[in-house]
Amino acid sequence: MDFKEYRQRGKEMVDYIADYLENIRERRVYPDVSPGYMRQLLPESAPIEGEPWPKIFDDVERIVMPGVTHWQSPHMHAYFPALNSMPSLLGDMLADAINCLGFTWASSPACTELEIIVMNWLGKMINLPDDFLHLSSSSKGGGVLQTTASEATLVCLLAGRTRAIQRFHERHPGYQDAEINARLVAYCSDQAHSSVEKAALIGLVRMRYIEADEKLSMRGKLLREAIEDDVKQGLVPFWVCATLGTTGSCSFDNLEEIGLVCGEHNLWLHVDAAYAGSAFICPEFRTWMRGIERADSIAFNPSKWLMVHFDATALWVRDSTAVHRTFNVEPLYLQHENSGVAVDFMHWQIPLSRRFRALKVWFVLRSFGIKGLQRHIREGVRLAQKFEALVLADHRFELPAKRHLGLVVFRIRGDNEITEKLLKRLNHRGNLHCIPSSLKGQYVIRFTITSTHTTLDDIVKDWMEIRQVASMVLEEMNITISNRVYLKDTKEKSEAFGSSLLLSNSPMSPKVVNGSFAGIFDADEFLAKTYAGIRIAHQESPSMRRRVRGILMSGKQFSLDSHMDVVVQTTLDATTGETSSTTNSYGRTTVREGTAQGGGQASISEDNEESAEGMKPRN
Ligand SMILES: *Cc1c(COP(=O)(O)O)cnc(C)c1O
Repeated sequence: MDFKEYRQRGKEMVDYIADYLENIRERRVYPDVSPGYMRQLLPESAPIEGEPWPKIFDDVERIVMPGVTHWQSPHMHAYFPALNSMPSLLGDMLADAINCLGFTWASSPACTELEIIVMNWLGKMINLPDDFLHLSSSSKGGGVLQTTASEATLVCLLAGRTRAIQRFHERHPGYQDAEINARLVAYCSDQAHSSVEKAALIGLVRMRYIEADEKLSMRGKLLREAIEDDVKQGLVPFWVCATLGTTGSCSFDNLEEIGLVCGEHNLWLHVDAAYAGSAFICPEFRTWMRGIERADSIAFNPSKWLMVHFDATALWVRDSTAVHRTFNVEPLYLQHENSGVAVDFMHWQIPLSRRFRALKVWFVLRSFGIKGLQRHIREGVRLAQKFEALVLADHRFELPAKRHLGLVVFRIRGDNEITEKLLKRLNHRGNLHCIPSSLKGQYVIRFTITSTHTTLDDIVKDWMEIRQVASMVLEEMNITISNRVYLKDTKEKSEAFGSSLLLSNSPMSPKVVNGSFAGIFDADEFLAKTYAGIRIAHQESPSMRRRVRGILMSGKQFSLDSHMDVVVQTTLDATTGETSSTTNSYGRTTVREGTAQGGGQASISEDNEESAEGMKPRN
């Protein structure tokens, strides 16, 4: 292919890519092929003579596409997102053309310098403390792009090991590194990603799994106990990985508590925020980062949720000395006149060579801007809230863990086997794609909002598919799931729940019960009543409107006395139909999940900008 043909084919390729992404909704998200399908379609050996491009390119649709799981599809809800975006794709197109290997500053100065800049930008976007940034040539901290979160974890584990071994030598001279290595212990939650276990396997260190609490969060107390136990046995605790946004359920370890423990025992604290880290660009999601000032390193994947396509993992270390010491080999052929003055990223990673990844990150950050990226993250979270509300409205399903960010985990009530069957069937049908996880012995389906093309319609469609297949599965297994809520369970959920005993006698269609007056209204009528007999406080406020709408849309029964904060006491003037209101003096109480008799279909408004905040029980 010469330049002339490249210009033509390249443009065709861009068109093909744009068509692919634009129309991806029409493709079956999960392929219908069996292992080895491709073998029958292609020859055993490479062609002797070169083939014309059109012939090669035709095989993409014929041979490759039928076996592709379409990760950019709006019906892709498996794993975590692996998004791309147009600026990102263009960035790599250019990076691939330049194809420099930026192992040292001198091997391509722009590659290193742009990386330093985008890592500072990104670090500031998630509000990292300054010591994690490349601020001056004398600062020890800084960020670097790694290939994957797995690699970032391994790099930090090895750096922590180097530091621990060195410290041990200082206190107890005369040991071999390997002898010290054999005593080292690392810690993570039992919810941590398998890559953390892998890092310990490679580093030949023991890994202790700390049991997460009922919110699937690793806490300081159990960690401290495990460390003290190990010290008593003559072992050397050296490294902790805290996860912000676990893969199973997007739960968050308690960084503040863990940081304190690591401080007491002088352990390296690494933070794995592979998925959730992108959300930290929104200030409202940064509460989980509290305690970050005690961490030694943190990594997240812009290649997951930040629309920078794979590969790009952002890793920051507070002090790169240990990383350098771990990876520093300096043969003559890699030295340059600025060695030691400029940053040589080969000392910050396992391989020597590295791609010019900073280009695509730079293009994305500049094209979307911080605001555009925040909008994207918030939209993903909003859609997940919508999905969560849909699941909550069907009594056959439960959410065994709280939704965080864009991940909802759900299951059918009852044995694991039922949910397992549901998931298998769903994936087999190929209309949407999800994967399972196991949370303390419960089999759950993970539903992640991934694609930027996902709309509310897609989510509703997916939920319809899930409900339909669930009905089929339950029928085949001859299982009925009662929607009866026993008084005992109600009481367990809330002792204060009294007046809504009424609910147990009322019919199953959605009702709004005003406990104070023992009046029962049809939900449909409620909106009318809302503006007549009962007034909603701050009804002009969009968030209050969302809440009321959410309460109604969930298809559940709610007692108004659980929503006293919503209502303004009013008297209806029978003669004029006008209402007058007095200030709301009711205390605030909450609605409890489980009092609902739902079972009905939640209807979703076509009004896309309305958020579903109100749709979830507020407990
Ligand atoms: C996705 C994920 C990983 C693994 O990411 P890679 O970049 O594929 O190595 C590790 N930890 C968490 C929490 C993840 O979500």
